[in-house]
Amino acid sequence: MKYTVIGAGAMGLRYGILLQEHTDAHVDFIDAWAPHIDKIREQGGVYVSRDHENRRLIPINLYTPEEYDGDPDVWIIFMKQMQLEDMLKRCAHLFKDHQVAFSAMNGWGHFEKIAQYFSEDRIYGGTALVATVLNGPGDVDFIGKSGAGTMHMCAMTNKVTDIEKAIFADFQQANLNPEISDDFKGMCMAKIVFNSVVNTLCTMYQITMGQFISYPGARDMAMQLINEAYDACERAGIKLINTRAEELESVDYVSRTGNPLHYPSMYQDMSRGRKTEVDYINGYIAKLGRENDYVCRTHEFLTHGVHLAELAFQYH
Ligand code: NAD
Repeated sequence: MKYTVIGAGAMGLRYGILLQEHTDAHVDFIDAWAPHIDKIREQGGVYVSRDHENRRLIPINLYTPEEYDGDPDVWIIFMKQMQLEDMLKRCAHLFKDHQVAFSAMNGWGHFEKIAQYFSEDRIYGGTALVATVLNGPGDVDFIGKSGAGTMHMCAMTNKVTDIEKAIFADFQQANLNPEISDDFKGMCMAKIVFNSVVNTLCTMYQITMGQFISYPGARDMAMQLINEAYDACERAGIKLINTRAEELESVDYVSRTGNPLHYPSMYQDMSRGRKTEVDYINGYIAKLGRENDYVCRTHEFLTHGVHLAELAFQYH
């Protein structure tokens, strides 16, 4: 199989490099952040650490959209939500009818944009419960020991296809621990609700996931956000793949045991002066509520809260 990763940031590098190292797939990368591209070319690859250890240089095939002329079977798309539209436009000349697109970005908004270039039966979504940090240009840290993290994947049509089975087999070999789901929206929403608790609160209070869950009231705060999001989903006719109680346990387990030392990606963005994806996470839940005559007061408030935190961070 041939994969081309659009967005050689933290997660794009994790998926692409694990596929390159553990399967016989051919992997290319496309990126547009000039300092990153220049650094990777200058040093002859990407420095990859595993949980801050074993830092080693791994060569990758990296192109800008304008330089690239490959024809992959599968596009793996890992941009931040705010960057995606522009990046897809720059790659549009490369998209062909026989190709499929896979994306496990956080939030909701990317599939609508991807669907402008790929028919729905060629779009596959994913949710990745894993932590990865781009330390800076050309330098990435795959948090967790080998085999850490899990993911779900599902066709936008909910039907399992041969290409999905082939991607699943490669992801399995690459230690990404995939599980195939049969409910696209229910799968995506479960991760959005998870992020609306952990990413958001850790970002606003500038704390790690372990510090968050060590607060005695953390489970109550999480349950309030989960209940509000599930109420909005119920009114919108969306059934999530986790129950409310399972969602709470997932927040607790991943924060306390999975990645207690990790600052979620929204915090990393804020601390580097970048915009966060909150409008696509809590903001999306709030919008879903509004569209279904239900006001998600806490998600509305936290969407502002994170934007205010972005602003406040600039004053420090
Ligand atoms: P990322 O910010 O590391 O990379 C995304 C793109 O931004 C890449 O093209 C990268 O080159 C570029 N970029 C990185 N730093 C930049 C800077 N300072 N200025 C300009 N461009 C820059 O994003 P990611 O963490 O790989 O996330 C991709 C998607 O996956 C997001 O939707 C995210 O929420 C989701 N996700 C991330 C993680 C994680 O642990 N990082 C886990 C699960 C899901």
